[in-house]
Amino acid sequence: MQVHVPTSIDEVLGLMGQGTIVAGCTGIFPHLAPTESIISLRKAGLSGVETEGDTVRVGATTTLTQLAREVPFLREAIASIASPTIRNMATVGGNLFAPQPHGDLAVCLLALDAEIERNGDLVTGVSFKVPEQWFYTKAMRRKQNSASIVTVASDGTRIALGGVAREPVRALAAEAKLAEGDIDGAAEAALEAADPFDDAYASAWYRRRVLPVHVRRALTNAV
Ligand SMILES: Cc1cc2nc3c(=O)[nH]c(=O)nc-3n(C[C@H](O)[C@H](O)[C@H](O)COP(=O)(O)OP(=O)(O)OC[C@H]3O[C@@H](n4cnc5c(N)ncnc54)[C@H](O)[C@@H]3O)c2cc1C
Repeated sequence: MQVHVPTSIDEVLGLMGQGTIVAGCTGIFPHLAPTESIISLRKAGLSGVETEGDTVRVGATTTLTQLAREVPFLREAIASIASPTIRNMATVGGNLFAPQPHGDLAVCLLALDAEIERNGDLVTGVSFKVPEQWFYTKAMRRKQNSASIVTVASDGTRIALGGVAREPVRALAAEAKLAEGDIDGAAEAALEAADPFDDAYASAWYRRRVLPVHVRRALTNAV
């Protein structure tokens, strides 16, 4: 295995194609072949959180722990991800690639209409506006290291769902109901965005059954 540790974005870009990009390595590690070359982003200068007015820009290799420290409204969501040990290593950019039912931060970023900065295949950062209100809930089997059964994130206008489809999804019909002030209607309409699957955490039937409950619960309890 060859390990590249580039120290700038230009160096990373020059190495693209010569190995697999890794950041915190929490997701990719089990999938790496023993002889695979890797390009570590650890020292590429892509980490950090900057706030200007109500806009937050987060570097791709910022860890989930660091993000929780610096962006208070996301703390509850980040606390629902994995465990402290994993959060100390897992990065914001890496979470965008976490397959469902992981990827809870990606669900939040979808609800925030975050902009993803990319240079080719390399994600360099994300930016979003701090919402005036924020709603988040995640149903899971136990407190740590458990993937989502249903994740709901909303800024009171957009509603994003995790755990109920192969990708994080916006619940557009539910958003229309929410705009009319109809939370019960929004909870039921969220089913239109769901295409759930069976896994070790829950069946598709169960995910469908509890989705409206968690949407209603999320929208009536601001973080
Ligand atoms: C035990 C356990 C429990 C977990 N529980 C949860 C959970 O409850 N909720 C949740 O959301 N997640 C959960 N996860 C997933 C975890 O959050 C992700 O593995 C993590 O966010 C990925 O980030 P990373 O930096 O480790 O990425 P890596 O593992 O380094 O990379 C993951 C993928 O992203 C690509 N990648 C990474 N960074 C970039 C970049 N900047 N540009 C382009 N491609 C990039 C890599 O090439 C790779 O394909 C869990 C993981 C574990 C091991």
